[in-house]
Parts: sequence; structure tokens; C-alpha cells
Amino acid sequence: MQRQKSTYLRLLSAAFLVCTTWHFFVAGKACATVSAEPWPDVSAPNRITVGAGDLRIALENTGQGLRIVSLTDTAANQELLAANPSPLFSAVLRNVPTKELTTITADSGWKHVEVAYRGVTGRYRLTFRTPTDDRLGGIRVEVTLDTETSDSALTWDLKIVNDNPQWGLWHVVFPQVSVRDLGEGGKVFAQVTSGIELSGMWAQAGKRGGTYPGGWTAMQYMAAYNPAHRTGLYIGVHDPFGSTKDIFAEGRPAQHAVAFTFDHPVPNMGKPGVGFDLPGEARWQLLRGDWFDAAQIYRSWVVQKARWWPSLGPNGREDTPKWMRELPAWVMTGGPASDCAPRVRSFVQATGAPIGFHWYNWHQIPFDNDYPHYFPVKDGFGEGVAELKTAGVYPMPYINGRLWDIRDKGGEDWQFTQTALPAATKEEGGKPYTESYGSKETDGNSVKLAVMCPTTPLWQDRVGDIVLRLFNEYGVSGVYIDQIAAAAPRLCFDASHGHDLGGGHWWTEGYWKMLDAIRAAKPADRMLTTECNAEPFIKWFDGYLTWHWQQQDMVPAFSAVYGGAVQMFGRAYRGGPTQDLANRMKAGQQLVYGEQIGWFGPEAIERPDSGRFLHDCIRLRWLLREYFYRGQMARPPRFAGQVPLVTADWQWSGEWPVTTDAILTGAWRIPQENKVVLLFANVSDSLFASRLELNPTDYGFPDKSPTVTAIRPDGAQVSLAIEITDRPDIEVGPRSILAWEIKPAAASPTRSQRPLGSSDSVILR
Ligand SMILES: [Zn+2]
Repeated sequence: MQRQKSTYLRLLSAAFLVCTTWHFFVAGKACATVSAEPWPDVSAPNRITVGAGDLRIALENTGQGLRIVSLTDTAANQELLAANPSPLFSAVLRNVPTKELTTITADSGWKHVEVAYRGVTGRYRLTFRTPTDDRLGGIRVEVTLDTETSDSALTWDLKIVNDNPQWGLWHVVFPQVSVRDLGEGGKVFAQVTSGIELSGMWAQAGKRGGTYPGGWTAMQYMAAYNPAHRTGLYIGVHDPFGSTKDIFAEGRPAQHAVAFTFDHPVPNMGKPGVGFDLPGEARWQLLRGDWFDAAQIYRSWVVQKARWWPSLGPNGREDTPKWMRELPAWVMTGGPASDCAPRVRSFVQATGAPIGFHWYNWHQIPFDNDYPHYFPVKDGFGEGVAELKTAGVYPMPYINGRLWDIRDKGGEDWQFTQTALPAATKEEGGKPYTESYGSKETDGNSVKLAVMCPTTPLWQDRVGDIVLRLFNEYGVSGVYIDQIAAAAPRLCFDASHGHDLGGGHWWTEGYWKMLDAIRAAKPADRMLTTECNAEPFIKWFDGYLTWHWQQQDMVPAFSAVYGGAVQMFGRAYRGGPTQDLANRMKAGQQLVYGEQIGWFGPEAIERPDSGRFLHDCIRLRWLLREYFYRGQMARPPRFAGQVPLVTADWQWSGEWPVTTDAILTGAWRIPQENKVVLLFANVSDSLFASRLELNPTDYGFPDKSPTVTAIRPDGAQVSLAIEITDRPDIEVGPRSILAWEIKPAAASPTRSQRPLGSSDSVILR
């Protein structure tokens, strides 16, 4: 026994050995066979180097584990890995009787580590076994690494075997990688709302990200890049189930590093003898562009593998009613029909286009109180719905899809304990998870709302009953089911629900089942929406309320991945001294991000300083609507030289200054017809003049010179005698929006061209 142990140690300290077959090492003996396959590049003792196209990774034997020592873009001659790399994985284990926590990592604490290489498949297998902490016997970690030359990509998988009767896995961090400062112009893409692009992360401590799937951490990838040096790294977990995980980018200025981590609470966490299998796989890929290129990598995986990718036809989501796909604008107000309906009607008259109406407080119970007892409705609700529908308005009442008030009849516990409690999410100790949102019971205490478990038939049926009653008894056009794509999963430990305890993907699957039933039963011309934009519910909703897209440094990464797959609508519009500029910034950004414009109170359109701009955004979006539901986002166009900036208080949470370019740009493309529309929104008070810088390959322009037509919000069209690929001049007047539609010359129909009015503030050249 003693001899065997010393042999392991000797092996670990000896030259790093690599098998060319699946044979694992046995003590003192390496693989017996050497195949004709090429050996991986052994660049140094104790080290192996693995290449995938231009991406090269080196792993080193630490004596007690494995450590990544370099990750190199060989074409750009750029080292990507930070000087103090993070361990490839770490896992927290919990002692069953004592609840003591301990952590194992890839780079230390192992008596035996093996690397096997199979030349036929190009797959490496890294096995970590026999922890030096004898109490952890029976824990084994297996990591596989596949290489993809064409994409310069590494694909990782991880499995933890737990044959230990005393220790349960609690959570697993995998993969994690620290990227070094990529120099002047280096940027980090992190998952916050629509996605944010940050310049200062290497110099500033702090974490950006959160628990996925939720409205603030909506997708499963991040990136670090320097577009000028054409180098960078895409870091994703391609998990087709949307399992619960924390996704963070963390600035570590002392180390000149940004660490990217995916932290998974384990399904059946804490149970002895339960292992972990990474859902999906992790991918590190060289990135030669920016956030838009990173979004394309993620999109190509989502389209093929994600369970939530919907079926798309030539006209986009054909399971979404056409009116919803086309809708250009939303208003949001509420109360009795006698109060809100006339105001909503005057809005639709002002815009001259169909609109959605998000109807709050249609019920007699107070907001965020006595949920889910939404019935009876306020007097006149059904009549108001019917009347508005004849006026080009699509009414969509609010309900909540997650919460049950624990005192659900005024101050009284009416049905909560008796009916709902067994189906509420529970902490490990059995206490239900509750939340408060500022609403008060009549005694002045905060309303406490329990988070219901989406896997329970009780909650699935209850939400279904409410939604179908609204459709069938009141004829509403859609139902908004609050919070489903906003609030991250609760780690529910109620064993009576029958799902894995804590981590896993039972949360998303619970909602999928609930929503499958609702979609199957609802009338085909109605639709469902929810709050925010957590991706794994897209297939079950027609619209996502992007009201929280209020961040500094946002980029439309979510639109780049999901444009056309779900309709996005509704920013929060607020007040304050810079409200009008903020309104223009939000509406302009919505237009170029592909969102339906709104949702504001009906009176916003009448504001002298910004109403006209909102009106124009709505009109132009109405004219160009097919691009947003049939097409997909293309790279937003850029201008030569500096673009001026504007700042306004968006009032998202208290004072909330946001700075953006004064000229917001977007591009939407219908690939099957080879046409593109470029959008320009000048939200400032000054004329903007510049030259466009376009790379034709980004837009798939036809070989022959395509035609370019300027389209104005009032519908006027002018053919432009310009070469789109030749840095054309462009001018956009103050507080103006403009579209350029680019089509193949042959396919361009004969148009009746109306001259632009001389009073027009949009200048076309
Ligand atoms: Zn549960």
C-alpha cells in the first residue's frame, strides 16, 4: 500500500505523461500502446499544450492537480490568461451530519491525476481522484476537453462522481477563467439586462452578473476582447435546459485580471452519494470582433440546441398572432375602463397605428396584495376591452405568475395555509420563501407574498385558470404574466414536489409545463407576455417586457441573439428635469434594438418636447415592422470619427444618469430577401453629419450595387444616388429619425417617389 502511494506521487512529480488511447494510467505504468495519431505538443516537462486552430492552451501538473498556465491567441501573439489563473473548477462539498463546508479545486488536493488523449476523436480526458483529504474518499472529477480547429474553440465537459457516504456536493464552479488586461481598447461583455460592454473592468474591483435565468442575467455567455487587436475570448456555458447558475465577470485590479465564472448549485444538493454532471457543455472560443460577434457564436448554438428556441417560419413566429408581431407601440395605465379607456383611445388616434395596452389594476384587489385572487374584475372591464378592441387597441391585463399573498383576504390568511402552502417554494428548513414589494396590508404591515413552486400542479393549474378566464370570459388580446422571465429561480427544497432539491433545471421545466398547457388551450389569436428577458422561456411567450433595459453601457446583445424569436416591448419611461431627452434616448434605443416602442402613459405622446419624436419612432417602426419579426439584427452601423454623447437622468432607481451616443444606430436584415434596413436616431438637439463606415460582409449586400432608399417616419421615400459601400455621407437633423433600406437592384420595385417637404428636419443626401 505504501509502495503504491509513493508510486502515485512519483508519477505526479515526474514528466507529464499523455496517453494516445483511452487507457488510463495504472500505477507506475503509462499507456501500453502508441497509436499512429500525432501526439499533442509536449512543450515542457510537466506540461502539455493543446492547440485548437489559433487558440493554444497549456496545462501544468502542480504535483497535486492540474493548472492552466497559458491560453494564447497564437495568430495575434496575445496571451489571454491572467498571471494568477483561477482553478479550472472548484466544488464545495457539505458534510451531511455537521453541515461543514469544504472546497476542492483542480489545482491542488489530489493524489492522482491523469490526462488521457484519444487521437481518433481529439478528445482529452482529465481525471482527478483520491483527494488528499482522506475524508473525501470516493470523490472523483472527470473533465473532457475537445478541440475545434475551424473555430479555434475548446469545448469542456465536467462530471463529478460522489461515492462518499458522508459528503454531499453543494455547488460547483465550472468553468472559470481569468483573462488578463487586453490593453488599450480592451472590453468585457457581461450579462446585465440586454448585455453590457465595459471598458474599465480590469482597473476596477466589482462583479457584474447574477443568478441565471433571470431578467438581469438572461443568457449564458460572456466575453473579453480587444477589437483593434483582433483578439479576445468568448466564454459560454451552452446548457440547453437553462439550469440555475450564477454567472459573473469580476474585476480583479490587483491581478490585472477579469475572472469569468459559472457557479452551479447542484441538483439534489447536499445529498451524499449524489454526483454532478454539467448540463450541456462549456465553450471557450477565440473572438476576433466584439459583443456582436460573441452574440453570433451564442446564437448559432441556441438555434441548434436550446430547448427554448421557437419554430420560425418565413414570417417569424407563426405561433404568435400576426397583430402582436407587427405591433409598433404600447401604452401602460390602469384602473376602471371609464378612466383609462378614453385616454388610451386618444393615444391610438394620435399615432394612427395599432397599439398594445398593458392594463394594470383591472381587478378589485389592490396591487401586489391578495394575490392570486384577481376576480372579480372592476365594473366595466369586459365592456372596456371590447370597445378598445374596435378602436385598434389590443388590451393585455396584468397578472403575477409567481406569488401568493400569505394573508390573501385583507389581513386574513384565507387560502394560503390551507391551499397554497404545500405548493410554495421552501428553504432547506421548510420555511416558505416570501417577498415584499412595498405594498401594505390594511394594518400597515408589508404584504408578504410566497413564491410558488412552478412544478406543482396546483400552481400550474391556478395560473392557467386565471389566464384562460381572462381570454374566454373577457376577450382580452393577451395576458401579461409577471415575473417569470425576471425573477431568478428559488432553490426549493420541498421534497414533496418531486423535483431535484435546490439546483438543476426543474424550475424552467415547471414553467414550460404550465405554459404548454396554457398555449394549447388559448385561442390562437391571443398572446402571452412576461416581465424581462430571461431566455429559457422564449418559446412559451410571444413578448418580453424589456422595461428594465436602463443600464449604462448597454449593447443590444439580446436582440442580436433573439430578434425575431420573441417580440420585445416596453421600457420604463419616467419623469424629472431631463425627461424629454431621456424619452428620446429610450425611444431611439428601442427602435434600433428592435423593440416595440413604449410603454408610457397615453399622455407622453402629447409632450411638446418629446412627443413628436415618440410618434416618429412609432410610425417608422410601423412602416418597417417586417424587419423586426421576420428578420434578424445585423451589426449596428458606425460612423467615421467621434460621435457626440448625450446624458439624461433615466430615473430607473432614484437619480439614474445614462450617457449614450447622440446618434443611435441599428441594422435589421431579412436574409432570405437579401435586404437590410439601417436605422439612425438623432436624439440630440443638433444636426449630425458624418460618413458611414460599413463592412459589406456584415450585411450580405448583393454583388451589384444595391439600391438605397431613405424612408421617413411619414412614409416618404427617396432613392439615394450613393454607393453604400463607399463611406457615404449622412446627415440626420436634430430630434429626427431616418431609415435607409438597402435592396438588390434587380428586386427593387418601381416606386412612386414623393419629394420631401422643405420644412423637414431630416436632411438626405
Ligand atoms: Zn418546489
